[in-house]
Amino acid sequence: MGRANAIYYSMHDPFADFTTSPEISQVFGEIIGLWAAVSWQVLGRPDPVSLVEAGPGRGTLMADALRAVRRVMSDFSAALQVHLVETSPRLRAAQAVRVPEATWHDSLASVPTGPMILLANEFLDALPIRQFVRRGAGWTERFVVDGEWVELAVDAAEVPPRRAASEGDVVEVNEPARAFVGAVAERVVRDAGVALFLDYGPERSAVGDSLQALARKRPVDPLVQAGSADLTAHVDFADLAAVARGAGADVRGPVAQGPFLAALGLFQRTERLAQGRTAAEAAALMEAARRLAEPAAMGHLFKVMAVCSPSCPPLPGLA
Ligand code: SAH
Repeated sequence: MGRANAIYYSMHDPFADFTTSPEISQVFGEIIGLWAAVSWQVLGRPDPVSLVEAGPGRGTLMADALRAVRRVMSDFSAALQVHLVETSPRLRAAQAVRVPEATWHDSLASVPTGPMILLANEFLDALPIRQFVRRGAGWTERFVVDGEWVELAVDAAEVPPRRAASEGDVVEVNEPARAFVGAVAERVVRDAGVALFLDYGPERSAVGDSLQALARKRPVDPLVQAGSADLTAHVDFADLAAVARGAGADVRGPVAQGPFLAALGLFQRTERLAQGRTAAEAAALMEAARRLAEPAAMGHLFKVMAVCSPSCPPLPGLA
């Protein structure tokens, strides 16, 4: 899956295949920007501070966040330096149009040390998982070879412990996501800072195959030709929280995206934006806000989790 997704992101406009929160409403990025600004205040206003985004897609979230922050939090705006972690040259070009002042990085390693506020929306779910299958008393790992699933026996020590895995059950692990969250945790412990992860997945680690492929906004077989569909998997927040705590960081949440956005003013801000628009535009804005927050849409399955310096003060929406 790793290579398939690297090919996919470098060759396609992924946003033809799926729609993410910042692309649904500008209010999403604005609210995340204000979250970053308030978090910066509670962290004691470090200056300079790196405002980092991992996997920024088209750059929409960062552009909306910076616009909101410039308007109402000019001191944060003056202190921040924008760093984008992005591997796809194609998406880097799109980001440069919307966030020309940014500096780009292939990984977190080259982002300057020092206090940071990191944002990552639907980034962890794009990193490649491994899948293990319970077979008899042991485990196999499954791979795709020439468009077919192949299972090879694997040492049980490789498989993350899950209670109650029965014959044929699939257990997943996302090693790059664990490594990323671990590196973020080490940084916020050493240099102070906070990271906000928004992604979809259950609150508790679960057994089951969550690999999904989307092409043209419709589910397709994950075995379709490598690189032609977007591959994602549920994010195991409990596992990643344990990684962050293991590195000495504090974890806040996860909470569901709906209550998080509502607490931070999603609907009030949307109503204000809708004033003075046509009735059709106003209705579309409210519909977009509901899509982000309603439990049956993105409000429940999507979760929000912060990783911060040890004993950091309460964070907005996560207290
Ligand atoms: N955050 C955006 C895009 C989500 S799609 C949004 O919400 O719209 C996933 C993003 O992560 C894309 O920008 C993709 O190119 C990037 N990405 C995937 N794997 C990556 C990796 N290993 N390192 C850095 N960026 C990666």
